[in-house]
Amino acid sequence: MKKIINSIFGLIILSALFLTSCGSTSPSSDRRPVILTSTTFLADIARNIAGDRLTVESLLPIGVDPHAYQPTPQDAAKVADSKLLIVNGMGYEQFIAPLLENAGGERKVIEASAGISPREDAGGEQGVDPHMWLDPNLVIRYVENIRDGLIKFDPDGEAVYRSNAEAYIAQLKELDTWIVEQISQIPAERKLLITNHEALGYFAERYGFTIAGAVIESFSSGASPSAGQMADLIAQIKASGAPAIFLDASDNEALARQIAAETNVRVVTDLHLESLTDGAPAATYIDMMKHNVTRIVEALK
Ligand SMILES: [Zn+2]
Repeated sequence: MKKIINSIFGLIILSALFLTSCGSTSPSSDRRPVILTSTTFLADIARNIAGDRLTVESLLPIGVDPHAYQPTPQDAAKVADSKLLIVNGMGYEQFIAPLLENAGGERKVIEASAGISPREDAGGEQGVDPHMWLDPNLVIRYVENIRDGLIKFDPDGEAVYRSNAEAYIAQLKELDTWIVEQISQIPAERKLLITNHEALGYFAERYGFTIAGAVIESFSSGASPSAGQMADLIAQIKASGAPAIFLDASDNEALARQIAAETNVRVVTDLHLESLTDGAPAATYIDMMKHNVTRIVEALK
């Protein structure tokens, strides 16, 4: 009898050890391929499509402005190790070209914005406006491009990627409807946007705003206005009657404050246009858009 009890105990201990070792190595999560994205909002969009089949990581950390980013040696190693890289495209990721040129290995690159026509009234000298993700209707194309790229990368997951993409596109359409409702609180004559750099062009086109000016007249934050440009901008803002300047949380406030002092416009400093946040208010792409719209409506209504 004692012998039987001992064997039962032995079995229990063995099973416990087996379960523990399974838990600690967690084979299902460790074996999932890692997909790299350039930025945090692309990682969130891609996760919604990848579901549990793939692990998605952003190369850029949270809160970093991709326009001004200087890659590190660790970034070069991550790109070199990657098999699939998802970028916005349209010249947005200036930092990534040298990384891709120098990285060994081979990887597929999904350009999320592929096939979207850039804004036509955007200044020719500046190149293309890459900020298409700030219109959720254009993000539907991002989702389709990412879905198709994931299916090529992992054909066995096709049904999962298709069904996840469909569910996420439904959420993007709901977001668009919500934005239209929120924006309707703003009187037509106050639908004027001034931003740090020209980030809200696609958003303005979709939701009927006029871009009344930008502190930095560029599609990138990596430029600085001259004294003459500042004077012109101040005159332009006064003439437009725009109530507020909207900055991304990562933007330098000094120039906007200088403009505000001379024009009496309000400065909103906490939009999240180029990065998610760690937790609220912009933990996901959809939350990021809701936060921005809420702040814009509060300032303009
Ligand atoms: Zn930007």
